[in-house]
Amino acid sequence: MIPFNTVAMVDWSGGNDTGPTPRKDAIWLGLVRDGVELPPRYLRNRAVAEAALTELIEGECSAGRRLLLGFDFPFGFPKGFAAGLTGCPDPFAVWEWLEARIEDTPRANTRFDLAGEINARFPGTGPFWFNGLKRDIAHLPRQNTRRGHGLPDRRVVENIARGAFTCWQMGGAGAVGGQVLTGLPVLNRLRHRFDGQLAVWPFEPLSSPVAVVEVWPTLINGAVKKASALGGIRDAHQVRLLARAVARLSLDDLSDMLDVSAPEEGWIMGLGHEDKLEKAASGGLHPPPLRDDCFALPAGVDWAPVDEAHELLRGRLGPVTGAVRLAAVQTLGRVLAEPVRAARANPPQPNSAVDGYAFAHSDTGAGAQVLPLAPGRSAAGVPYGAALPGGHALRILTGASLPEGADTVILQEDVTRGEGEIAFRGPVKRGANTREAGEDVAEGAQILPAGRVITPADLALMAATGVGDVTVREALRVAVISTGDELAEAGGPASGHQIYDANRPMLLAMLERFGAVPRDMGRVPDDRAALRAALDKAADGADAILTSGGASAGDEDHVSALLGGTGSRALWRIAIKPGRPLALGLWRGVPVFGLPGNPVAAMVCTLVFARPALGLLAGQGWSLPEPMLLPAGFAKSKKPGRREFLRARLRDGRVEVFASEGSGRISGLSWAEGLVELEDGAREIAPGDAVRYYPYSAFGL
Ligand code: AMP
Ligand code: MG
Repeated sequence: MIPFNTVAMVDWSGGNDTGPTPRKDAIWLGLVRDGVELPPRYLRNRAVAEAALTELIEGECSAGRRLLLGFDFPFGFPKGFAAGLTGCPDPFAVWEWLEARIEDTPRANTRFDLAGEINARFPGTGPFWFNGLKRDIAHLPRQNTRRGHGLPDRRVVENIARGAFTCWQMGGAGAVGGQVLTGLPVLNRLRHRFDGQLAVWPFEPLSSPVAVVEVWPTLINGAVKKASALGGIRDAHQVRLLARAVARLSLDDLSDMLDVSAPEEGWIMGLGHEDKLEKAASGGLHPPPLRDDCFALPAGVDWAPVDEAHELLRGRLGPVTGAVRLAAVQTLGRVLAEPVRAARANPPQPNSAVDGYAFAHSDTGAGAQVLPLAPGRSAAGVPYGAALPGGHALRILTGASLPEGADTVILQEDVTRGEGEIAFRGPVKRGANTREAGEDVAEGAQILPAGRVITPADLALMAATGVGDVTVREALRVAVISTGDELAEAGGPASGHQIYDANRPMLLAMLERFGAVPRDMGRVPDDRAALRAALDKAADGADAILTSGGASAGDEDHVSALLGGTGSRALWRIAIKPGRPLALGLWRGVPVFGLPGNPVAAMVCTLVFARPALGLLAGQGWSLPEPMLLPAGFAKSKKPGRREFLRARLRDGRVEVFASEGSGRISGLSWAEGLVELEDGAREIAPGDAVRYYPYSAFGL
């Protein structure tokens, strides 16, 4: 099978126009093109939807891309219906029959009358039932009182798809009958319009560029539930996640799902393959997964200096998050997955930088100048609208377009204004007080690189250069687990031998500042089975995991022991203070940063190691903060062999350090406003010597 470049999924609706505001139970379109997810589109009625689908199919076909297009309603009816209605078992005969008869406008449609009309052609009562209207409709029972119509209740596929509604039910929560009667006519028109380019599964071979398939969002109900719990419209999640899931399937899996024979009734694509669809919908690591040995230390490395540890991380980690298209204005704090180019020059036309008078430079010279004023003026947003007559000047305001024929502006303060003329002293520089078209940004120029974290200023730049949509990475989801038998929940009761879990609130908050989505996975005791279960749970739906405590090689250091058991762990003994060994490893493919339990060490290791590593995973590339070289407000004799970080703050231009270096002193973390970094070698620091200071803000806090 030839792969599909674009996957689009439609959540159909048999109801009438739902208004301009996106809402549930309307038509929604989810789309993934070349692996990039577009935001789901709300289509307020079927006419709008049909136009959007026509445009989509035309666009994909003319670009030479293959499109898989899914709809969430049955393409066929239970066996015998097609022949009973049209005299022919061909499902397309039913499509033609329905298209010829239904009347469908954004305000009203005749689906209930049509159901009655069909019932009249079959013996007994039914097969269609449920009338959503006040008036009675001949042959359409309001309740499920059908019998004697001679047709099966369900398609074969619906006997397997647990919870699927039958196409005979015309209304009520979850019913699909109305969608079929309004949807098939639209599909029939698309089929004719794109004759030869579009094939309907499973009735036709899928050799054309466009394949239309029947889908059922319930197959990925787990992923939809999870996403909906975080907010948003369920229908939008359904189409988005279904498109994502199908787009991520391997070609083999997709071929398997399409390998079905159901020539009259049709089939639900993916039925029986829910596990694969759910897995693909839930995301996980879809850029190339990290290598199993990404945290292995090279042979012979015992104590790694900080710089060496950084180089190892930098060389082995890469982005793990997927990409989505978003409106530029919605991207504050997001990471660009692709560079952004200016859609328009800034400024788009030459304009005036001041309030003054515009003229052609060639009409002026040195000494006293007098120019007649052309009537009218050019103001921002209200251009002069004509060419400036030769030898004339024109009143012009800041930001206004220069009229054709003018290339120079003189400041109003430098002019004497008379009756219908101005006087000033020359010479004036050609182009004075004007801005050239594109002098700031040329059309098509790259304005922002991939990996950029979008700032408020970037929003201005993108707006000014006409950028509509951009491709950003999904936010990195980072789970946080605290370990230790001694921990009690902050704010709760604690016995004398317990301490409150201080790391979790700190780490969750730091992650938020880093632009990640933190996930609180709670505390676990020093128990291997409990920790294993917590890591399993965290790995399901997170891109990275931070643990604190239990990271070194003692009896109760279960984090390092468990990661060691996966064969992918490395206990990194880094020459740093504060900070004991850091346990790094992959747990079910998800990188785990096993931080020390001491809050001071946990924070320093997060800032110095986890933060740049998470930046790589999130697609930002590698970046370390720039230190400020500032005079020390303290004296210290530092031993060689390890890098030290001291809790510090800036007062009166000097760097003060916290009175105690004890790594259990949480008060010092809060007292501090940054860290001082003392290099690996020995050093005697006297007050006034330059030291490397990083305000917390340099780490993004
Ligand atoms: P560990 O790395 O598990 O040996 O812990 C080192 C020290 O940090 C011990 O004194 C622990 O009690 C303390 N500690 C561990 N986890 C936390 C936490 N979440 N909050 C506060 N202190 C902790
Ligand atoms: Mg512990």
